[in-house]
Amino acid sequence: MSNEGQLHVILLGAPGAGKGTQAVLIAQRLGLAHIASGDLFRQEQNSGSELGEIARSYMEKGLLVPDEVTVKMILGRITDPDCAKGILLDGFPRTLEQAKALDQALTEQGKGIDLVLYIKVSNEELLMRLSGRWICRNCQAPYNVVELLPKVSGKCDHCGGELYQRPDDKEETARKRLDVYFAQTMPLIEYYTEAGKLVEIDGGKAIEAVGEDLIAAIGVRIGR
Ligand code: AMP
Repeated sequence: MSNEGQLHVILLGAPGAGKGTQAVLIAQRLGLAHIASGDLFRQEQNSGSELGEIARSYMEKGLLVPDEVTVKMILGRITDPDCAKGILLDGFPRTLEQAKALDQALTEQGKGIDLVLYIKVSNEELLMRLSGRWICRNCQAPYNVVELLPKVSGKCDHCGGELYQRPDDKEETARKRLDVYFAQTMPLIEYYTEAGKLVEIDGGKAIEAVGEDLIAAIGVRIGR
């Protein structure tokens, strides 16, 4: 594998594990392109595209969007110019099929995944976090009524956008998303462990502490 100085990192974890929050911080610090499949689908919905409508029908039920559609969207995105220094994938891959398609596409370009950071959080904590989560309608930054309140109530600290609760964070759909995660995404932990790429991080700690652990794990892997 030769990534020519580019870094290819995957953030793995259940919905609510803190992938989005951490991804923004890490991507900024390391100059990586933050690619969040859920954010891309929500942007497609906001723009009223056909892809957005297809995605909506699955997302509102807490189900995964079909692999074919998702893989095509992500493989298109990772070749954009802002990916020159590397990518931080958040929410993708979520199935073995997606992981294999990603590996194949990178291998064809003489590249590969450097590291998979698995943020582990208990089930009770995940449900609590999801039901308390609000995100910015404009830039999708996540907030939480328990741990991460915005400075001004209802407004995003970064862009001033309106905060709202994602329909799929309501309890019934959040539970479904967790079931889907355990059935379809957990097998990736074994897949990347066998590939010698997985590092487990305790996601139950405070946001800053988890961030430091993630940065340290990347530093160890790339020898910085
Ligand atoms: P997220 O914002 O990552 O929690 O994703 C929200 C929803 O978007 C998920 O519940 C899925 O319906 C869909 N989605 C996001 N990423 C993927 C993916 N890699 N594969 C399939 N569906 C996805």
